[in-house]
Amino acid sequence: MKSLEALVRPNIWSLAPYSSARNEYAGHTAHVFLDANENPYNKPYNRYPDPLQTDLKAAISKVKGVSPEKIFLGNGSDEAIDLCYRVFCEPKVDNAVAIEPTYGMYKVCADINDVEYRPVLMDEHFQITHDKLLDACDDHTKLIWICSPNNPSGNNINRDEVVSVLKSFQGIVVVDEAYSDFSREKTFREELDVYPNIIVLNTFSKAWGCAGIRLGMAFASKEIIDLFNKVKYPYNVNSLTQEHALEALKDPQEVREWIRLLLLERGRMMKAFIDLPICVKVYPTDANFFLAKMTDAQAVYDYLVQKGIIVRNRTRVKLCKDCLRITIGTRGENAELIGALRQYR
Ligand SMILES: *Cc1c(COP(=O)(O)O)cnc(C)c1O
Repeated sequence: MKSLEALVRPNIWSLAPYSSARNEYAGHTAHVFLDANENPYNKPYNRYPDPLQTDLKAAISKVKGVSPEKIFLGNGSDEAIDLCYRVFCEPKVDNAVAIEPTYGMYKVCADINDVEYRPVLMDEHFQITHDKLLDACDDHTKLIWICSPNNPSGNNINRDEVVSVLKSFQGIVVVDEAYSDFSREKTFREELDVYPNIIVLNTFSKAWGCAGIRLGMAFASKEIIDLFNKVKYPYNVNSLTQEHALEALKDPQEVREWIRLLLLERGRMMKAFIDLPICVKVYPTDANFFLAKMTDAQAVYDYLVQKGIIVRNRTRVKLCKDCLRITIGTRGENAELIGALRQYR
């Protein structure tokens, strides 16, 4: 890996971050807060939230096995994705490489930040080799995006290839493990100390069932996390979110039970799809969704919409012609989808 200073945008490296009232007193115990121009009434929402989410990170640290100084929390993973560009990529100069097809936000954030985005097409099994990714890189490539399990294909990216990228690439490798709770593959979150250039993304939106509270996680070296904390909005995770996440973290057993149920349903659903005459193929998956190739995805999608059932039509995505992406729901929801598809024409 190049030095962090060589990878970070010069203005960010030299940035003096905003210092909030709550930053400045930290470390002392106090009971009268007349420092932040808050209203003393309307407790507890009158107070600004903890800018570094200390209690929440302590709880996440226990569940995820990562020490708090290696954790960044943001307004969804989307904030962490955007911060990767804002911290590392000089607009109009630097570029980012990514597998294709993959999660759409990597490209949207590149476009917003005026950073060149270089998609590298996978093979028909949605796999990629490290040399294909590295061939797309040049001196101005700061980031490589690898989503595993990948969205929309659902499969894990071959671990040996990811390891080779981590070892050979001189910039930052972002491994988005939003769906890793549904997979048996070893996570890269456990390997933070092996690869100084890795950023691993996790989220509360999928297995944890908390998409509404908007809470995303990034795990990386303390040095990288410090840069994220320097650039983020001071109070980027609100009090209600911090409170709810702390509550959710008290019961990881419930999350494990949801995962067990969803994996059971996933197996049933994939089998039911294979038996449908209008289904050509289902792709292997390690996530809470699967990709199904249909005889006519658009027609089936439109038919389902009429029935009030919404799936994701991916037919215009590369390598996904005539594919629908099916999220696993409750047993009842899944039965409704299968029932409707069995009645199709
Ligand atoms: C759903 C998803 C996320 C989660 O994004 P949030 O902003 O945390 O809700 C992240 N990455 C991928 C690949 C996803 O599919």
